Amino acid sequence: MSESEQLREIVTRAFRHSPYLHEKWSAAGTVPEPWSSEVFERLPFMTKDDLRRGYPDGLLAVDWRDVAVVHESSGTTGQPTSSFFTAEDIDEWLDRMLLNGVGLGAEDVVLVKTPYSMLSTAHQMHGAAQRAGAAVIPAGNRTELMPYSRVLRLLRDYRASVAYCMPIELMLFARRALSEGLTPATDFPALRAAVVNGEMLSDAKRRFLEELWSIRLFPDYGSTETTSLGGACAFGTMHLWSDRFRFEVYDAARGTCAQRGTGELVVTSYHRRAMPIVRYRMGDIVTVSDASCPCGSARPQVRVHGRAADLFRVGERDLFPIDVEDTVYGPLLGCEPVFWTGSVDGDRLELSLESTDSGTAEVASRADAVGEALAERLGLRAEIRIVAPGTQMTLDRRAEQEAMFKPVYLHTGRAEGRGLEYTGSR
Ligand SMILES: [Zn+2]
Repeated sequence: MSESEQLREIVTRAFRHSPYLHEKWSAAGTVPEPWSSEVFERLPFMTKDDLRRGYPDGLLAVDWRDVAVVHESSGTTGQPTSSFFTAEDIDEWLDRMLLNGVGLGAEDVVLVKTPYSMLSTAHQMHGAAQRAGAAVIPAGNRTELMPYSRVLRLLRDYRASVAYCMPIELMLFARRALSEGLTPATDFPALRAAVVNGEMLSDAKRRFLEELWSIRLFPDYGSTETTSLGGACAFGTMHLWSDRFRFEVYDAARGTCAQRGTGELVVTSYHRRAMPIVRYRMGDIVTVSDASCPCGSARPQVRVHGRAADLFRVGERDLFPIDVEDTVYGPLLGCEPVFWTGSVDGDRLELSLESTDSGTAEVASRADAVGEALAERLGLRAEIRIVAPGTQMTLDRRAEQEAMFKPVYLHTGRAEGRGLEYTGSR
């Protein structure tokens, strides 16, 4: 089926069977019947707000008897959004997850350390790893049943070869390992890679974590609503799964969409049946390009810069928290785990760096180099504080809240004592 025919099918089905989209598109005066490719380009965007308003099942486009699973995500507002999948949807999603360059196989043992509770993240790796013939260790995350001491035991005793988690978790595993007298790079010889998602990951932090653990990192990019949209190839380049989704890059200032360039990513799934995803604004600013990759893939490359709301200006430049992270970790390569938080006000950055008992002196000795890099690369005047272990990242807070907060590294305005706002398990 051609791309246009795939689009026509998914859009027509959405219009006929999703009550919410039928009403929304009708109200906007843009209906996909009769079909033309120009109609597609005039369809109003779907946003997270639509998912909230459509709760619980206004966006469902199949009979409940055909629904295989319901997932939810909830952000800081706590307002839930539903995501439905049929058995066919799950089949396609697991197949897509295996496009990641980590190359899972029967010899792999995969520790899944993302939340199983309502989000899709853990389930997608759990199912994909099993499909590849690998063994799964279903650890989960944000649960008091999985303290970091237990994570380390599972990694070591079952000789896990791949960890699936947020990048911050690799920092936390390492901190716990060091506190037990273990060296991450040498005391986990079976561990070869980590597939990471759920938060930003700069190139420098990726190298930092790869060296800390002596493994390779393979980012996956997606959301509970869409599941995986792209992932790293064997050469470490992030590609979009462009044979599964139509991707557009939205320039909010001009109100135009393009296939390539920098702007907000807009996605349309060619396959999703239970809950059609049609021109869904991800809220992430990305750069999509056709730069060539040694892997030979024709899939476009993507760089994820961050949420549009997190953009801040220094002088004439637009910066994202990931630019700060990328600059901070460069001079810290080879150190023990480092957590950072900052608050930015104009060109002034208050930066806190936190390491381990044994790593604090080394991080302190490199603080000047971090400050110089921030000034040279980003034009930021940094005041750097080295804080005691446990100041901004504690492992022993109880995970009582319903929302799955992500770490907040960079605050605008003063952020004294706010820490990473990330609740790990013990
Ligand atoms: Zn590639």
